Amino acid sequence: MTQPRTTAELRALDAAHHLHPFSDTKALNDEGSRVIVKAEGVWLTDSEGNRILDGMSGLWCVNVGYGREEIADAVAAQLRELPYYNTFFKTTHVPAIELSAKLAELTPPQFNRVFFTGSGSESNDTVIRLVRRYWDIKEQPEKKVIISRRNAYHGSTVGAANLGGMAPMHAQNVALPGVVHIAQPYFWGEARQGETPEEFGLRTARALETTIDALGEDRIAAFIAEPIQGAGGVIIPPATYWPEIARICRERDILFISDEVICGFGRTGKWFGCETFGTQPDLLVMAKGITSGYLPLGGVMVADRVVDVLLEGGDFNHGYTYSGHPAACAAALANLAIMQREKIVDYVADDAGPYLKAQWSKLAEHPLVGEAPMLGMVGALELTPDKIGRTKFPDVGKVGTLARDFSFRNGLVMRATRDRLIIAPPLVISHGEMDELVARAKK
Ligand code: PLP
Repeated sequence: MTQPRTTAELRALDAAHHLHPFSDTKALNDEGSRVIVKAEGVWLTDSEGNRILDGMSGLWCVNVGYGREEIADAVAAQLRELPYYNTFFKTTHVPAIELSAKLAELTPPQFNRVFFTGSGSESNDTVIRLVRRYWDIKEQPEKKVIISRRNAYHGSTVGAANLGGMAPMHAQNVALPGVVHIAQPYFWGEARQGETPEEFGLRTARALETTIDALGEDRIAAFIAEPIQGAGGVIIPPATYWPEIARICRERDILFISDEVICGFGRTGKWFGCETFGTQPDLLVMAKGITSGYLPLGGVMVADRVVDVLLEGGDFNHGYTYSGHPAACAAALANLAIMQREKIVDYVADDAGPYLKAQWSKLAEHPLVGEAPMLGMVGALELTPDKIGRTKFPDVGKVGTLARDFSFRNGLVMRATRDRLIIAPPLVISHGEMDELVARAKK
């Protein structure tokens, strides 16, 4: 029998052969990566036996927590029965059929059809294709511009990175024409002196209207936004923001895309973030929580009014080998069955969400914390040297990264965006574990 590798051996192999996503691999190799070997509930275990509370649900995805035998069994059974088949060229399979119907049931009433993908990024690339196809069929091919927001994250493929508004990504030469970015509703960081959250919410939303006017409505295809900007810093908009955006989308001849890759599947206390904020999207982008991350899967729900047009256009020449992979669909069905049986969305709305918010909000009393917003199971801590003047640390991002690394060493996974720490724990986290999370965040 071969001996298991030591942590040092694993780190050496990783350093030699692995290019890590969103990492400075050279710096990482000097330090050595932390090797995660197993997980249960909300707890990770590393190769040295340390237990770490996963305050980030992996990458905002493990909504039902780790170690769900039911999902593993469903995937194993599917792999034995039919490990792969595609949904191209007039074929389909049972897991894709069952999951399409389940998603039509769970999403808002305008949605009855899904286009499957393998990830959030592929879903957003699909959105670009769908939106362009829609306007072409409607004989308005000049409607091509998609309006997005600064600091939005919509994925890492070239198309999705362009939709996103992340400056460090754009700095790496991904920019293509056709996407325009407007302000994000980041009250703490971007409000004017004396402006109320309500005024700021309206002003930021109206940037959509002025941009449509400036560019010409006949050129604008769509507006895309995350209900709560996730990777951009957990930006929970003021109450006036989404109703005003909804009004503008209603009055203007554009499509509205809700990117629910993070907010979907219960994170905000409803099945989808658009329900929490009362918007009516035409396209709804999903991934992550659809399988709780147990297997990769994404999708785009397309509203009936858009489907009606698309169906007039004949072939849609787009699709992925793994669109609706049978094992991934089986994982999703088992995951959604758990969510429904255990009433996890209600738990977030009525119990865990308010419980965590009550404790988390108190962290705002700390002299270095500017604000501590939280909605459902997603929250942030804005670190600042001056909470009254709302100033930033001089080397933006350095303090956040140090705090994140410190927290990781202390046994809590948080994430840092600039100097904003983020949490998004599994939705099933218990009261005792929430107490522990807050105690570790305070350290
Ligand atoms: N959209 C949003 C809102 C996301 O947060 C992410 C990933 O974090 C994506 C899209 C991209 O998803 P994926 O990493 O599955 O490609």
